[in-house]
Amino acid sequence: MTRRREPMSTATQNPPHPDAPTWELLSKCVHCGLCLNHCPTYRTLGMEMDSPRGRIYQIVQVQEGGMEIGDSFALHIDRCLGCLACETACPSGVQYGRIVERARAQIENTYHRSFFARRLRRYFYGKVLHDLRRMERLARLVRFYQRSGIQTVLRKTGFLRLVGAAGLDRLSPRIDSEFFFPEIGKTFPAVGERRGKVAFLAGCINNVAFSHLNRATVKVLTENGIEVHVPAGQGCCGALAAHGGFREDARKLARQNIEIFLGGDYDAIVTNAAGCGSLMKEYDDLLDQDPQFKTRAHEFVAKTKDVTEYLAQVGLRPPRRKVAQNVIYQDACHLLHAQKIKSQPRELLKAIGCQLVEIPHADQCCGSAGVYNVVQNELSMKILEAKMDDISSVSADMLATGNVGCMIQLRAGAAQRKMNLPVKHVVELLEEAYS
Ligand code: SF4
Ligand code: SF4
Repeated sequence: MTRRREPMSTATQNPPHPDAPTWELLSKCVHCGLCLNHCPTYRTLGMEMDSPRGRIYQIVQVQEGGMEIGDSFALHIDRCLGCLACETACPSGVQYGRIVERARAQIENTYHRSFFARRLRRYFYGKVLHDLRRMERLARLVRFYQRSGIQTVLRKTGFLRLVGAAGLDRLSPRIDSEFFFPEIGKTFPAVGERRGKVAFLAGCINNVAFSHLNRATVKVLTENGIEVHVPAGQGCCGALAAHGGFREDARKLARQNIEIFLGGDYDAIVTNAAGCGSLMKEYDDLLDQDPQFKTRAHEFVAKTKDVTEYLAQVGLRPPRRKVAQNVIYQDACHLLHAQKIKSQPRELLKAIGCQLVEIPHADQCCGSAGVYNVVQNELSMKILEAKMDDISSVSADMLATGNVGCMIQLRAGAAQRKMNLPVKHVVELLEEAYS
């Protein structure tokens, strides 16, 4: 049953915001509570305010003027992982992801975070993500920190723990020796008969910390007869900005990518990051008020494919060798819940000879969620603990997933428990099969 009631009044203390959640989105929730036990923050904290239903209730209160956008509201909305397990569970079709992103845009517009948090968020979402050169310079600095011995000294002396940065340090990905930037602008020809032509979005962090994964993606596609273009001028997809409440910044990035990726005659626009693909498939929603880009955004969405989705669609060529390993496949939330991609990665792994090992609660988030494991470190680690308990309950040679954020988090979990469990992207296993 859908709530028919219109908002009682316009909020007085909460300034109107063009991105505020609409009544159309909010009214779909009938408060049945069927989503509660699927929500990792509710399962961990046991509080209604940290459940999907509780958060929607608070958002409605804000829209109606019954609650201010203050510390409490920001706390409970910030604690949401954006994993969208609640969307999958909801029988009423509540688009929770759209609701919470809009609520975050309101928070960014109205709520006064600390001076340091404001500056840092503005710098990261508004500058670093918009400029791959700036990201490159930053990555070089981090690489120097990691390789010069400074990191080792700070770790051994306990300095990082003292200043509360040990978690951040542990979760920072290792910066590559060779970045992926030189490949941007290149075309990689198909091996053998050409079966397709795609444009590849190289991402942002992938360029500096997962360049091997990007090269593996190009290799697996070309080995399967796909011509791969990595168009020059592409940028970050905008997912981190949108999820952080910086929807205008995400729009700028979306427009840039639409211009670039629709400039060629590609069969598909391919990404290897679940989080990127999920936002790229939402560009139409992001730009629905932009008459210049609205139609092209729909075209872009129709072409966007996760690499596993695309490869399953075109079909794998017989691999050169089998990868006979027992592999846990951990669903990345933004593949499973946001894009409803469940069977394709599993089919691909089976096709190269992997034996799949299923874990309990594979549909539950690992606690990574973009930068969540950094900004909500304590809660993220509790969620990771539950995930590692599930992983430890089975026996496997390795773990595969479809998102670099999950890889970083699960590697940290395995290292903490001193488990000998390599964590790889599905595409890296496919690459082994075509090597
Ligand atoms: S979000 Fe869906 S499942 Fe959760 S309380 Fe609302 S209607 Fe029920
Ligand atoms: S997105 Fe995930 S963390 Fe947020 S309310 Fe839904 S299930 Fe809970």
